[in-house]
Amino acid sequence: MKKKDYYATLGVSRDADLETIKRAYRQLALKYHPDRNPGNKEAEERFKEISEAYEVLSDPEKRRQYDLFGTVGSSGGTGAETIFSQAVEEIFATFFGGRGGSGRRPPAIQGEDISVVVELSLEEIAEGTEREIEYIRKDTCEVCGGTGSARGHSPRACPTCGGTGQVAYRVGGGFFQQIIYQTCSDCQGTGFRIVSPCSVCGGTGVVERLHRQPVEIPAGAVGGMTLVLRGAGHRGPWGGPAGDLIIEIREKSHPLFARKGEDLIYEAWVSYADLVLGTTLAIPTLSGGTIPLQIPPGTHSGEVFKISGKGLLRYNSRRRGDLLVQVHVWVPSKVSFEERRLLEEMRKHKGFQPKEHKPEKGFWRRLKEFFE
Ligand SMILES: [Zn+2]
Ligand SMILES: [Zn+2]
Repeated sequence: MKKKDYYATLGVSRDADLETIKRAYRQLALKYHPDRNPGNKEAEERFKEISEAYEVLSDPEKRRQYDLFGTVGSSGGTGAETIFSQAVEEIFATFFGGRGGSGRRPPAIQGEDISVVVELSLEEIAEGTEREIEYIRKDTCEVCGGTGSARGHSPRACPTCGGTGQVAYRVGGGFFQQIIYQTCSDCQGTGFRIVSPCSVCGGTGVVERLHRQPVEIPAGAVGGMTLVLRGAGHRGPWGGPAGDLIIEIREKSHPLFARKGEDLIYEAWVSYADLVLGTTLAIPTLSGGTIPLQIPPGTHSGEVFKISGKGLLRYNSRRRGDLLVQVHVWVPSKVSFEERRLLEEMRKHKGFQPKEHKPEKGFWRRLKEFFE
């Protein structure tokens, strides 16, 4: 067997990795494939050499043997050729939708995702809601059916890259020469050129349209959360699958309630007398009504009361949070003559003077738990 330089045949360096070898083979195989060079004996010869080189260099064991001895004993023969012709057919199937010229169409490209922001009120979060989201979306062009070509025309292989989607550059010279591949800028790597573009979509196969998408948002959504609607994004060029619609949830602030997880927090302002003597407060709820809350005599300003089960539903769960009420003493900024007289009277009494007071055991820890 005559000694051949397989590396030179594929135009790769001796330390090229498998990926580089595959790429080089693909480029050359497409260029010299007999289907693309009918009747060209030279191309046919080149194609056989390329295939042989690839069979050896793509197999680690054969490549090692070749590197050591400059030859591979078991290679050659008709069996090998059949394998190559299958491999090349696979490449043609990927690039041209089948061997030969008919029925060529560009490879379908995945459509992009679309991101939208949805602002929800606490009431909507509590109940769950349905929204109709309006956005501009790329839909399949109905005139060309997504092919991008005018009626009666079909795309051709890109002449710049020969349909491979990549162009090769030689870098350096002699023994150190390297071949670098880059995505073909004329066809963006698709390997195709739309010769007669559809007049409506200009060859992309998609047109922008206003789209209305109903979206159901379950109760308990949290700001920053994203919901993904598969396939509601842009349709892909040339009949490609659609991207997703990504919905980012934001929370509007509420005039009465703050939120901590599934708990709601309400701050109640209470008179000094009510804290000392005890009272019943009417605590508002998200749904509009009120709930009575007993404030026992001797309640300190800042104390927190829990109304169980009156918070929000946890997302995707039946668990409901609580309504936490923190009471604060109300201090008027102005008092009338009569009010001042009453307060002066109160001030004289020993019982209203602060005593040495130690915080109730566990009080600070509980408060921290509620508000951190
Ligand atoms: Zn190209
Ligand atoms: Zn079109």
